[in-house]
Amino acid sequence: MASGSCRGLDPSIFFPSDGSGVVVARRICLECGVKDECLGYALKHRIDHGVWGGASERERKRLQRVR
Ligand code: SF4
Repeated sequence: MASGSCRGLDPSIFFPSDGSGVVVARRICLECGVKDECLGYALKHRIDHGVWGGASERERKRLQRVR
């Protein structure tokens, strides 16, 4: 978290209420150097809410099913 592109940003950006908010969060994650670790953390801990590692809640659920 200390190394992420979201460091210092308003956390609410990563808990959007609609699809356009997800796009904004994903754009920030796209440039993040710890994106893979962030997504791995969210999947490991089964975090339901928010955008983590550039993946929305729906995308992470899909990934969990594939796993
Ligand atoms: S991938 Fe996104 S949510 Fe995760 S640390 Fe990076 S900027 Fe923050």
